[in-house]
Formats: sequence, C-alpha cells, structure tokens
Amino acid sequence: MAEKRVALVTGAGRGIGATIALTLAKENTDIAVVDYAPAESAAETLAAIEGAGVTVRYYSCDVSDFSATKAVVDQVVKDFGKIDILVNNAGVTADNLLMRMSEAEWDRVLSINLKGCFNMIKHVTPYMMRRRYGRIVSISSVVGLMGNAGQANYAASKAGIIGLTKSVAKEYGPRNITANAVAPGFIKTAMTDALTDEQKKAMYKLIPLGALGETEDIANAVKFLVSDDARYVTGVVLKVDGGMYI
Ligand code: NAP
Repeated sequence: MAEKRVALVTGAGRGIGATIALTLAKENTDIAVVDYAPAESAAETLAAIEGAGVTVRYYSCDVSDFSATKAVVDQVVKDFGKIDILVNNAGVTADNLLMRMSEAEWDRVLSINLKGCFNMIKHVTPYMMRRRYGRIVSISSVVGLMGNAGQANYAASKAGIIGLTKSVAKEYGPRNITANAVAPGFIKTAMTDALTDEQKKAMYKLIPLGALGETEDIANAVKFLVSDDARYVTGVVLKVDGGMYI
C-alpha cells in the first residue's frame, strides 16, 4: 500500500471543504481540518472522516491571520510529521454592487479568500520544499474568470487565486511542488438550496449540462489533481461548472 499522506484542508468544517476532506480521507490520507468555527460545529464532518479509518484533527484558525496560520501549520507538522497536500478552500462572499460596496466588504473578502491562500502557501511550502514534494490546490470560481455583477470583491479574489496559483506553479515546480486551481460553477450547497424554483430555472439555462453540481464533483477534481495521475499537471485552472463558462 502507498505511504499514507497528510492533507491540510481549510474551511473543511462544512460544505465543499468537508466533502473534499472526506474524499481524500477515503484515499488513505490523514486530515488536518482548519476552520474558523469551534470544533463542535464540525463534529459531523470529523466523525465521517474518522469513519474512513484515518486520523483527523481540528484546528480553529482565521486563514486571513498571518501569524495564526503560521502557528497552525507548525502545529500540524508537529502532530502529523509532514504536510503533503494543501487545499485552500475557505471562502466567503459579501455581495453588493460596486457603487454600494463598502471598504470593509472589499477588505474582508480579499483578506479571507486571497490573502488566506497566500498565508497558507507561504507557511506550508518551506516544509514541502524540504521533502521535495507537495500538492497545492486552491478553490477559485468561474466568476473569477467571467466576472459577476454584484460580486466585484469575490470575483477579484477568485481571479487573484488564479494568478497566485500560476506564479506558485512556476516558482515551486523545480521542487516537485504542483499548484493548481479548481473553478466551480454553481454547486448544490446550503446557499443554492435557498434559491426559489424560478431562480434555479434561470440558472439551469446558463448551464449546458442543465443542473447544479454536487460537492462531490469538486472533491473528485481535487482528488485527481493531488493524485499521482496528475503528477505532470501544474498551473492549470480546472473548471467544474457543467459548461457554464466556455
Ligand atoms: P461554505 O459552505 O460557506 O463553507 C466555507 C467554509 O469556509 C466554512 O467552513 C467556513 O467556516 C470557512 N471559513 C470562512 N471564513 C473563514 C476564515 N476566515 N478562516 C477559516 N475558515 C473560514 O462555502 P462552500 O459553498 O462550501 O464554498 C467552499 C469554497 O468553494 C469557497 O472558497 C467558495 O468561494 C468556493 N465556491 C463555491 C461555490 C458554490 O456554488 N458553493 C461556487 C464557486 C466557488 P465557518 O463554518 O466558521 O463559517
């Protein structure tokens, strides 16, 4: 059996991040869940990961906090001995038309979604470099490619992740560290469950495959990008959007 790997997944307490963590756990990967909320709120996710027969630990941390993320990364390495895989999934929205968008709304989204990825990559890569192995996947969005009215802050943060990913791929490729992004379209989560049937119908018209994606669709893309099958893949943006943006 291949050596057990260790993955640090941010925002893995719920939603897409929880499915990514569980999917990697099923691939014989120990999991460090890094999330903002206290551990109790992720109890169900942690139990499911444990049920896959791997070790899971929970670390409460705001990914936008540079020194807090360094402390968490150092602690994960102390606890698990290494980090093979980093998945930057934590993200938030604070939607508003630009004319009404406050400085606080801009700063919050950019600092969690984009600076959060910088913080984690900055602190994890020294450990990966020493072992000459690393797999980094950051969750962007199709709106980072196509823009979206009412989401200038969010779209800018998700476009920024793409530039960051491509630069990291170029800088760290020689150390056998790959960096890729996944750009989800509309995914079935608590957020999209709240939409009316009419809103959903309007959405389906934009999607050639005619349905919302499942969290498993994103997790499977991440699973591929961190697998040996993707060892020669770096700097890509893998759209998982049912063809919404072609
Ligand atoms: P979600 O259900 O809102 O989950 C986001 C997770 O990130 C939560 O666990 C949340 O923790 C955590 N988080 C938020 N702020 C954080 C911070 N400052 N530090 C650490 N963790 C923090 O979102 P989702 O729908 O699963 O989305 C996951 C990722 O996919 C995001 O990056 C999102 O932008 C991207 N995405 C989603 C869609 C979609 O259709 N859902 C489409 C495109 C891209 P708490 O529980 O404490 O809030």
